[in-house]
Amino acid sequence: MKTNWHDKMNFGMHFDLHANKTDTELGAKITHENLKRALSIIDPDWIQCDCKGHPGMTAWETTFGTMAPGVIKDAMRVHADVCKELGIPLGMHYSGVWDTAAIAKHPDWEVLGPDGKVYGNAMNSVCPFSPYYDELMIPQMIELIDKYDVDGFWIDGDCWGVQLCYCDKCKSSFKEKYGIEAPVRETGEAFNWHVNNYKENTAEFDEDWYNWTEFHRQLFLANVQKYTDAVHARKETCLVISNWLYTYGCPIEETVTTDYISGDLSPVLGLKSAALEGHFLTSRIKDWDLMVWAFLNDSKDMTGWTAKNITHLNQECAYIAACGGAVMIYETPHRNGLLTDWHCEDYRKIGKFIKERAKISRHTESVPQIAVLHNPKDFFTEASESAFKIDINHPSHHKGTGAIQLLLENHYHFDIVMPSMLKGKYNDYELIIINDQYLFDAEFVKDIEDYVKAGGKVLISGVNATRTFSNLLGVEGKGLYEENFFVQSLDEVTAFRPLCRQVEVNTAKVFRYVMDQQIIDEDETSVPAITFNDFGKGKVAGVYFNIFSQYSNLLYPRVRDLVKEIIDGLDCNFMISDIVAPSYVHFILREKDNKIIVNLMNTGSVSSSLARPSMVEHVPTVSEIKFKIKLDKKPSYVEIAPSQININDCYKDGYLNITVNNLDVLESVVIYK
Ligand SMILES: [Zn+2]
Repeated sequence: MKTNWHDKMNFGMHFDLHANKTDTELGAKITHENLKRALSIIDPDWIQCDCKGHPGMTAWETTFGTMAPGVIKDAMRVHADVCKELGIPLGMHYSGVWDTAAIAKHPDWEVLGPDGKVYGNAMNSVCPFSPYYDELMIPQMIELIDKYDVDGFWIDGDCWGVQLCYCDKCKSSFKEKYGIEAPVRETGEAFNWHVNNYKENTAEFDEDWYNWTEFHRQLFLANVQKYTDAVHARKETCLVISNWLYTYGCPIEETVTTDYISGDLSPVLGLKSAALEGHFLTSRIKDWDLMVWAFLNDSKDMTGWTAKNITHLNQECAYIAACGGAVMIYETPHRNGLLTDWHCEDYRKIGKFIKERAKISRHTESVPQIAVLHNPKDFFTEASESAFKIDINHPSHHKGTGAIQLLLENHYHFDIVMPSMLKGKYNDYELIIINDQYLFDAEFVKDIEDYVKAGGKVLISGVNATRTFSNLLGVEGKGLYEENFFVQSLDEVTAFRPLCRQVEVNTAKVFRYVMDQQIIDEDETSVPAITFNDFGKGKVAGVYFNIFSQYSNLLYPRVRDLVKEIIDGLDCNFMISDIVAPSYVHFILREKDNKIIVNLMNTGSVSSSLARPSMVEHVPTVSEIKFKIKLDKKPSYVEIAPSQININDCYKDGYLNITVNNLDVLESVVIYK
């Protein structure tokens, strides 16, 4: 078996420049000595440097493409030599589908929009049938291996750079395969598609559109496989990844033989992005890392970038480590190749902090507790006019981000899974949550019914999803409630936006009714908002509106309490109970061999409320966290890591009673059974 050096990596640095036609001093100031000094300060496990960004101009003298006019010195030679000397692997940042220079040279390689003209947006993507791969990308990759003996390729601008191509070749191939013309969709049409097409008795599905995007996904994957094979054939140990492939925004089966999964997180919403991806990638077969941007801005445009501070970066990096991934930091060097000294000093501190923590959870497994659904058909139907969608702010992500926030803030641990990932694993989970999705095949609907019959617990939410599972929920649909409404949460009431599906209960019991105002026992309508139903040996909760999608931007604490009430009502047998901790402390559970790891991840941030700052300045220390873990017998050893505080004397009557004091960012309770 070939060696995958990435398996041993915990902390890496990524340097990219996107060399372009305005550059005048590329590599001018880089020397063997100053790069070696900078890397010795940071002490990364591996690095990636720029060789070709989206402008398509190379930082090295290439036989095949367009070298950037401003290359003064071969910075890649310096990187290759220094990495060899320091014994650290060197990966290449190389832009894939998006290559502006290639398209300038070969205008017929560019994708065409529905009107038969180029899209004319910021991206210059190649048509999947163009000779780009054979004539440029693969020859350049081979050239890089031969010339610099590189250890990996991190292919940027790849799945997320795919634009649907309406050239004659793409359209005719699609028609040949599917027997229909290529459909056209207006930008932004997707999100409201489900609601606009709501029918009580049928699950409407835009099959033509799904097939058109699937056609492009398959063409893209074939090209990824082609360049991956070419690289592996030239140098077996040279690893290949396609940026964002197989992440949450790319929920497809792992068919291509890339070597691991990687993605660069949202620069401004890095923590949210890490939480979403970390809880999804853990269910993938391939190993993974995530890359944190070392800088941010106010999101308004592409200017005003400033370096994140250590506190901010520690928090984002720690989340990735807690979920079992390797961590990368993305830094931009100066155009002349110099790195900024004080940045390097910061990365050294962050690297030390992360390496200590990453080794605790790397190559461990998530403890199955709750499965949150990520259904490719729903996702790709809502992904606007794209074949893939990685934008965490896009409405197609809200059902996922809303669900993870609601669960994490209630201290539940979960995995985000595609239906295919549940095959053979249903009974590992205490609870399955079907969050506002409904385009499931009959086999999945039956599997869920069988799971509940055998004693499983399911929470089904959403206007459409509750229709797909009416039988399981013990209700019958009666149309839609289209006003703003309220629902009781504990002894108070919280607000929601339309729509709510109107149902009549058959075997179900109503837990909460839709309220038209906020006085409890006075303003309830006759429309059920939340129900419970016993089914076989199991139990099902139905929430007849999109509670998870709405929460993504609402973040109303009473909605969080309401979801806890619903999950409590399902009587699940979770490993951890009696938790006393602030809502911003997430519990991330891992296991391996005879070890259970409870990662306590502090996602808090304290600042003035005058405005919402994008920089995390101060993470509030949590003075005390308490919880119980059910265990059959007294464990052999319990400690808090990495600080190595022994807490052995906490087992009593079948439970570990754990107290953790003074949590800063991430500490792990490690239990050796
Ligand atoms: Zn095409």
